[in-house]
Amino acid sequence: MIPFNKPYLTGKEVHYIYDAVHTGKLSGNGIYTQKCQKWFEQTYGFGKCLLTTSCTDALEMAAILIDIQQGDEVILPSYTFVSTANAFVLRGAKLVFADSRKDHPGIDEASIEGLITSKTKAIIPVHYAGVACDMDAIMEIANRHKLFVIEDAAQAIDSYFTGKDGIRKPLGSIGHLAAFSFHETKNIISGEGGMLVINDNQFAKRAEIIWEKGTNRSSFFRGEVDKYGWVDVGSSFLPSEIISAFLYAQLENIEIIQNKRKEIWNKYLDGLADWARKNDVMLPSIPVFASNNAHMFYVTCQNFEQRGRMIEKFRANGISAVFHYLSLHQSAYYCDKHEGRILRESDRYSDCLLRLPMYFELPSQDQNKIIQVLLNEK
Ligand SMILES: *Cc1c(COP(=O)(O)O)cnc(C)c1O
Repeated sequence: MIPFNKPYLTGKEVHYIYDAVHTGKLSGNGIYTQKCQKWFEQTYGFGKCLLTTSCTDALEMAAILIDIQQGDEVILPSYTFVSTANAFVLRGAKLVFADSRKDHPGIDEASIEGLITSKTKAIIPVHYAGVACDMDAIMEIANRHKLFVIEDAAQAIDSYFTGKDGIRKPLGSIGHLAAFSFHETKNIISGEGGMLVINDNQFAKRAEIIWEKGTNRSSFFRGEVDKYGWVDVGSSFLPSEIISAFLYAQLENIEIIQNKRKEIWNKYLDGLADWARKNDVMLPSIPVFASNNAHMFYVTCQNFEQRGRMIEKFRANGISAVFHYLSLHQSAYYCDKHEGRILRESDRYSDCLLRLPMYFELPSQDQNKIIQVLLNEK
């Protein structure tokens, strides 16, 4: 069976874990946590970075930080993972779902302004497949209406947005806050893991307190206060040093990982371009302002039936190809709270998008076989 995903180990993970174990400091915010955080701040010019136990946690921290209250509204794409939504629902927010772009599952920036009301507090763009949303348009709308922007950059490590000013910015550096994931299905992994990026400095101090269970423990360890105590709400958001040690080994090898993934991604694109044109299947399109971090390779079929046939055919050939999100506005949990607006593109991606196996160690002959299955599908 060719799996859909296979976590890649660089070989250094166990070595750093051994080192972390040997130093005897196993809880969070130790040497490896700080090494990782510094790596992100220096490599991408992010504001303050805090490792978390997941991207889900980082999004929950973001919702606390922008002080979401009962009845506040947040605008997010319907075509996303449940965590993008749950973080805000947990604090009483009402979700206002936006549609996806025609050429890409990312949020349709042109539809956002019409969804803003006096209760809107934030916009949550999701960089689907690591491909940037139109951050110029989104930041401009947010600034004009005084809204916060929280980037769900779970899939977007080492990917970029080039603005109208020609400046190329890493995803996760643009919104007031951003959340990354190191879940084993992402490009850079630690099993479970995530990170909150705080680009708007007004949130930096409070973020650290929320991160440390509502205490000013971080200030205490820096010698800024002589005892620490309970000063705000918070939770247990820190990963252990064992997780951070694992993550650091991955970060050291990011270039190798990214180059290999891009090679695989481009081979799919080259191998399938003619076939896609003839069969009216959409291959991933990268908007001019976005880069490709090769997080995912997907095809968008003509309809639900065609996708079903392809999944069947893959299965018969021992290949695991999988669909992705079901529109959240159609979900069992939220459909009766959504106000009936039709989100055509989101539903189309729910019905028609199919993801192909994509991982560092995908053997070339296996990839040839995957491509051949599609070429045989008329
Ligand atoms: C993976 C993912 C998440 C959740 O990440 P975890 O680290 O598993 O919590 C959130 N949003 C998007 C878009 C994702 O792809």
